[in-house]
Amino acid sequence: MPLQICTNYKVLVKNQLKLLSSEKDLVFQRLSCEQARSRIRPLPIPKAKITPLPPNEKGSELWEKIYQNAIKSNHPNPELMADSALRARERALEIEKARHLTQYIDKEPKHMETAAAPAPKKGRTVPPPGLRCKATKMDGKQCEFKCKNGDFCTKHSLKN
Ligand SMILES: [Zn+2]
Repeated sequence: MPLQICTNYKVLVKNQLKLLSSEKDLVFQRLSCEQARSRIRPLPIPKAKITPLPPNEKGSELWEKIYQNAIKSNHPNPELMADSALRARERALEIEKARHLTQYIDKEPKHMETAAAPAPKKGRTVPPPGLRCKATKMDGKQCEFKCKNGDFCTKHSLKN
């Protein structure tokens, strides 16, 4: 649709409307929901189904037991049930095997190994009462700071 340049706004609108009405094709094409969605985000690629390997002990006594139990309990797919149960067991055993790695030592531990190093004291060290400020705090205890100016600490010494 060619756009006409005109200084008169009313004429311009009129011409545009005329052109619109003369066009037989729809100006706006409505999209279906699916088309619109596919425009927003591409459709996800379907993942390839991985068929798990059969368990190592397939057909063993245990497998047969699980299989018979599945049949008894009317499982829709007893073979699949037995397979997955056995696979789960094998995986659990694998994890358990990798977990326990306790090392047994039969030699006697040395003194330094048994006695843990004393933890360093945290916080401020309080000097002995004789070296401390003579002021008494609100809780009735002696001030815990060192005396700087005579008998008192910097906080409790009287200012000039
Ligand atoms: Zn003080």
